[in-house]
Amino acid sequence: MKLFVTGTGTDVGKTIISAALLVGAARRGQPLHYWKPVQTGGDSIDRDQVERLCPAVQPYAGRVWSYPLPASPDQAAQAAVREAPTVEAIGAALDPAADILMEGAGGLLVPLNEQNETWRDCIRMLQLPTVVVAGSGLGTLNHTLLTLEALDAAGIEVLAVVINGPAHEANLQSLKRMRPDQRFIPFPWLDLTQPSAAWHRAAEELFDAVTLRNQTTDPAAWYAYDRQHCWHPYTQHQTAPDPLPLVKAQGIYLETASGEKLIDASASWWTNSTGHGHPKVGAAIARQHQKIDHCIFAGATHEPASLLAKELVKLSQGQLPRVFYSDNGSCAVEVGLKMVAQSWQNRGIYHRKSFLFFKGAYHGDTFGAMSVGASEGFHKAFSPYLFAGKSLAPVTSHASPICPEGPESLARGLDELKAMFQNHGHELAGVIIEPWVQGASGMNFQDLTWLQTLGRLCREYALPLILDEVFTGMGRVGSYFAFERAGLQPDIVCIAKGLTGGTLPLAVTLTTEAMFESFLDQDGSKALLHGHTFTGSALACAAALAALDIYRSEKILDRVAAMETETRNWIARRAQDLGLISPRALGAILAFELPGSGAGDYFHPLAQKVPTIARRHGLLMRTLGNTMYFVPPLSIQAGEVRDALQRMERTLGDLHRENGAE
Ligand SMILES: *Cc1c(COP(=O)(O)O)cnc(C)c1O
Repeated sequence: MKLFVTGTGTDVGKTIISAALLVGAARRGQPLHYWKPVQTGGDSIDRDQVERLCPAVQPYAGRVWSYPLPASPDQAAQAAVREAPTVEAIGAALDPAADILMEGAGGLLVPLNEQNETWRDCIRMLQLPTVVVAGSGLGTLNHTLLTLEALDAAGIEVLAVVINGPAHEANLQSLKRMRPDQRFIPFPWLDLTQPSAAWHRAAEELFDAVTLRNQTTDPAAWYAYDRQHCWHPYTQHQTAPDPLPLVKAQGIYLETASGEKLIDASASWWTNSTGHGHPKVGAAIARQHQKIDHCIFAGATHEPASLLAKELVKLSQGQLPRVFYSDNGSCAVEVGLKMVAQSWQNRGIYHRKSFLFFKGAYHGDTFGAMSVGASEGFHKAFSPYLFAGKSLAPVTSHASPICPEGPESLARGLDELKAMFQNHGHELAGVIIEPWVQGASGMNFQDLTWLQTLGRLCREYALPLILDEVFTGMGRVGSYFAFERAGLQPDIVCIAKGLTGGTLPLAVTLTTEAMFESFLDQDGSKALLHGHTFTGSALACAAALAALDIYRSEKILDRVAAMETETRNWIARRAQDLGLISPRALGAILAFELPGSGAGDYFHPLAQKVPTIARRHGLLMRTLGNTMYFVPPLSIQAGEVRDALQRMERTLGDLHRENGAE
C-alpha cells in the first residue's frame, strides 16, 4: 500500500497524522515505511517526531532531497545551489513494490522546482492515494475547500481529509455540508509528550477510517438488482454462472467484491489501452466537464473534437485527413459502409451494390455490420434479414477453422482473390476487412502476402478498401494502425476500442479527401446522411486526447513491442511442451488453440472450463471457442507479461489434469 500525506498549509500537523497512520498501519499488521523525500529547514524535526511517536517505524531508504533553508523546495534548493527535486526523480526513487507512507513538504501547491512542478503533479503522476491534513480552527474552511478544489481539478481521488486540532464541531459540519462527497475524519487533540494508550487507539481508528475506501464495497447493497433487472450481452441467462461483482479497476487489474485481484486478460473487451483508472484520463474528463460536457455536433464544434481530429490525421501520416465521429465500433463500420455506398450514388453510379467481405469476419452487431460479417455463431438468427454481398475465405498464417491449411493454401487463395476481382470487380461497391487479425472469430492472423495482394487489387480496380481497425487499431498490433505495419493503403479506417484509453465510448471513421469531396454539392441530399446524438462527445474526445498523451509519455507502443518479444520467446520456449495448437503472437495479442482440442473444434467443452480455472490463478479470461487468448491493456509491463504467462501455464496445467481425470 502507498499513502501520500499532504496538507492545507505548513502548520496543520501533517507529521503527527503521518505518525498516527504509521502506528495504525503497524498495529493492523500492514506496516508502512516512512519517506519524506524533500526536507527543508527544520524538517528533520519531523523525522525525529515520527520516530518518537512511532518507534517501530522503518524509514524508507529512498533518496532524500535535504536543504538547510526553511523555505519551499525550489527556493531552498536555489539557496543551497543544489539540484531541486523533480517528480521524475522522486518517481524513480520510489520502489513500486514497497509499502510506503510519503509525506510532502509544505502544502499541496508548493513548487518543487523552477519547472513549476508541485506535490499535486507528484501525486497525480505517481498515482498515490492521498490523505489531506487540515487544521480545525479559524481559516480551516477556506484552506480545506481550496485544497480539495485543486485536487479535483487534477482528477485526484482523496481517501480522506483528516481534521487535526482542538475539536470545532461547527467547522466540521460546514465542511461536510459543502463537500458531501468527501470524508472528514476528526483526529482527537491529544497530549503527545508521551505515546499513550489513547494515542495508539486513535492511530488505529484513523488508519481504519482512512483505508476504508480502499476496501471493497458490499455487493449486498446492489448485486440483487443486477440479478433482477440487468440483461447482459452474449449471455444465456438460464444457464450462465452469476456475473462477477467487480468493485475496482486499476492498471491491468480488476478486483472483485470478495477481494480477488485478477489480471484483465481481455482488456475489458479489448478496449483498455492506457491501464484502468489512469489519473490523467480521469483528470482530463473532469476538466472537460467543467468546460463543455456535451453539445450538438451538427452546425457547431468544440475544442476537443477539433484537436483530436488533427491528432488522428497526423497518426494516419496525413493519408486520411477526414474524421467522422460516432460512439462504438459497429457504428464506425456502418459509417464506413454508408460513405462508400452514398459516394457511388452521389456520383450517379447505381449498379455497385455489394461489398466483398471475408469468412470469419466480425464487424459489429448492427444490421449493416452483420451483413458484411461472417460469424455464424453470433449472427445466425439474423441472417434472413441481412443484405447480400460477396465473400471469400482469407488465407491465414496458421491453421484455423476458417483456413485449415493455413499458409499452405496461399497460391489457391491468391487465385481466388484475383478471380473475384476479375469476375465481380465491376459490381462491387467496396471491400471490408479486419486487417491482419480477425479478432472475434478467434484471433486469426492473415498471411501478409495475401493481405497485401488484396490491398493492391483494390487499388488496381479502384475499389474503396475499408479497414475495420476497431480491434487492431490504437496500438494493438504494435503500430498505431495495423495498416502501417502491414503496408496497406486504405480509403477508410474504423477505430473505436482503445481510443479513449478504454474509458468512454468513442469511435471514428477516417477517410480520404477524395471520399469527402464526393459528398460536396449544392444539393443538400448529397451530404453524408448519418449522425448520432452523441457524435463527437466532448468528454470522450478529451479522454482520447489524454490517452494519446499517455501513449507518448509512457511509451505505450514500446510496451506493446516488449510484450510481443516476451510472448514470442515464450512460444519458442514453451509451446511445444505445453501442447499449444497454432500458437501465435503479434503486438499485444497472444493466442493459441487449447491443447487437446482440434483446430476446427470451436465448441470444445474444455474451453468452457477456462474462465473458472484461470480465475483460480488470478486471470480474468474469456475464450473464443477453443481459442485461448491474452489481450491485456496495452500499458502492461514486461514483468507483468511474464507473471501472466506463468499464470496461464498454471491454468493449462490444471486444465490438463482435470481433462485427464475425466
Ligand atoms: C468489437 C469490434 C467491433 C464492434 O465494436 P462495438 O463497439 O462492440 O460495436 C467491430 N469490429 C471489430 C473488428 C471489433 O473487434
